[in-house]
Amino acid sequence: MPARIEVDLSAVIRNARAMADRSGTRLIPMVKADAYGMGVGPVVRALEAVGPWGFGVATVAEGEELRALGVRRPVIVFTPLLEDELPAASAARLTPSLGSAAAIRAWGALGGPWQLSVDTGMSRAGVQWREVSAVREAAASSRPEGVFTHFHSAELDDGTMQEQDRRFEDAVATLGLSGIMTHTDNSAAVIRRGRSNRAAVRPGIFLYGGQSIPGSAVEPEPVAYLRAPVADLRTCEPGDTVSYGAKFTALRRTRVATLACGYADGYPRNVGLHGRSGSSVLLRGRRLPIVGRVTMDMIMIDVTDVECALGDTVTLIGRDGDDVITVGEVGASAGISPYEVLVGMNSRAVRSYRED
Ligand SMILES: *Cc1c(COP(=O)(O)O)cnc(C)c1O
Repeated sequence: MPARIEVDLSAVIRNARAMADRSGTRLIPMVKADAYGMGVGPVVRALEAVGPWGFGVATVAEGEELRALGVRRPVIVFTPLLEDELPAASAARLTPSLGSAAAIRAWGALGGPWQLSVDTGMSRAGVQWREVSAVREAAASSRPEGVFTHFHSAELDDGTMQEQDRRFEDAVATLGLSGIMTHTDNSAAVIRRGRSNRAAVRPGIFLYGGQSIPGSAVEPEPVAYLRAPVADLRTCEPGDTVSYGAKFTALRRTRVATLACGYADGYPRNVGLHGRSGSSVLLRGRRLPIVGRVTMDMIMIDVTDVECALGDTVTLIGRDGDDVITVGEVGASAGISPYEVLVGMNSRAVRSYRED
């Protein structure tokens, strides 16, 4: 039995319900990058349970994949498309995010709904809020289905989300599109401010158990479980070293177990390099430290103080007993974001799904 990833689809649904309850609006679940590495097919099928307004993706190919899966709801493509991608988007009945008069006119020639992307401070995509009058005419002759913006620091209490909101309101007013659908909130915005006065919210990472803001009213349930068996066992004498670079030296007689799981299975290679906390795994509900570097195919742990036998199942990410190792904790230990931990789980590990 190699390393395996189990995705808890019931937890995805409960996390989605928590977002819908807290915001009081419909969801546009973000399922880009293969649903943040969790597998887009099973995830969108599960999310039907919450009746989403539509889905959000990054590319035309991802949108086409949703259509091939039988999704009939709106699918918004959030990354700007080049003009030569528009025919394929139209053929798949995708909804592009447009931010220039030229793009709006090019799409108008093909027909179909579109969304106006307003840049209120992210400086990544869309028409800048202070330039929005440049698209007013085009948007008046080919009315968008909705107008949206994206926050750069919604997880922080630094006033920038409120400033971006003000810029967005100004832009919508300048456009004069009365009664238009608007949406702004990602997971962190929904967590932090709760009820939304907009038509929809766009949570991503929360659905997959990846965002938690200390002290906040809602916490996601873990979704991804990375588990692997103990494949080898040895006793190291004081002075023996473990793994590449010999970064760990045994100070006592140390029982070392080898897990059949490495960075090729989606466990970050740099775990432990950015702080010892988080560089642990769970065996029968107990935390045990990783010793030495994570390698491509194997990880070594210290099992001196516990019973451990070949074939025992170890949890690297997820819940075991009363304890849980979150993607945030693993990411922090590796110096990467929880988003990267999740997306990195699209890996060699055998993936399965659970629904209760
Ligand atoms: C990825 C993305 C989201 C979701 O963000 P999370 O932080 O994962 O909730 C929302 N809106 C846009 C435009 C995005 O690109």
